[in-house]
Amino acid sequence: MRLIFHGVRGSYPQPDARMIQYGGRTTCLQITSAEGKHYLVDAGNGIIPAGKKMYEIEGKTGKVSLLFTHLHRDHLEGFPFFRLAYEKGWYIHLYGGHTALLEELDKLPQATGKIIQKGKTRSNAEDLRQALRTLQDTNRGFFPIPLAGMQARLYFHAVAEGIPLENEEEMHITPHYHTLHPQNMWAYAFEEHGRKLFFTGDIETTGSLKKRENNRLVRAMMHVHTLVADGQYTPEEYETRQGWGHSTYEGILTLADRAGVQNVILTHHDPDHTDAVLDGIEIRAKRYARETLKSRMNVSLARETMYREI
Ligand SMILES: [Zn+2]
Ligand SMILES: [Zn+2]
Repeated sequence: MRLIFHGVRGSYPQPDARMIQYGGRTTCLQITSAEGKHYLVDAGNGIIPAGKKMYEIEGKTGKVSLLFTHLHRDHLEGFPFFRLAYEKGWYIHLYGGHTALLEELDKLPQATGKIIQKGKTRSNAEDLRQALRTLQDTNRGFFPIPLAGMQARLYFHAVAEGIPLENEEEMHITPHYHTLHPQNMWAYAFEEHGRKLFFTGDIETTGSLKKRENNRLVRAMMHVHTLVADGQYTPEEYETRQGWGHSTYEGILTLADRAGVQNVILTHHDPDHTDAVLDGIEIRAKRYARETLKSRMNVSLARETMYREI
């Protein structure tokens, strides 16, 4: 499979000349299978160039699956400008959910663990549809074209913990639910011909959050070839940002080391981090893996348009 980064910035888009090397667009990953099937993860405004490019290559008809990790704005905001959604010859399968129900369940002390262990944590596709409808609510003046005015055929699917997406043959995609973010999260594992890519979504691995969740995550990403993870903060910044839902490279690399991951790509870069700052973080992260963890895993930071064969 081929992985392409179309958006690597966290929180909000940052079109700034000092950030051009890494890019200012918000989260969107593209995974293309060996057979040429396309999957997108998240609709940050990185989905805008992704959609235009796919239209250039594939033309007026095609099929794409669009998976959502969660419904925060920086992961939805590109959808109203997604080129393929305006083509009646395109079939778009949207996967995700969420969390109104799950958040309620989380408030009950015993509930989450039970449900996750049974492998039956379910999301609600209707929540995703509602979020996208609201984003394009013409009555409230949020956007001039409603969701229903998009010409492509949109199919909404709910995902479930550990249950592979149904429409795949060679490519196996498995959602993994975690609560290491202010809004609960769907991470995704892509596996093709024995090679695995794992995307955590937004995640805070340390601080006051639960050790059990980290352990579950380590099991889910055991021996993956490539891990893509949120490493938004430096360890110094994290001191004052605990509970905000994002990780440091130290937190991610420690988990990745435990899971025996081969390659780690850090993304969801802080909107205040210039190219120079990110270059510095990349050096520190590589050094942390090599010298502190004594690990041979490869570590890099995601850049817009960067791709990897997995
Ligand atoms: Zn985010
Ligand atoms: Zn988020």
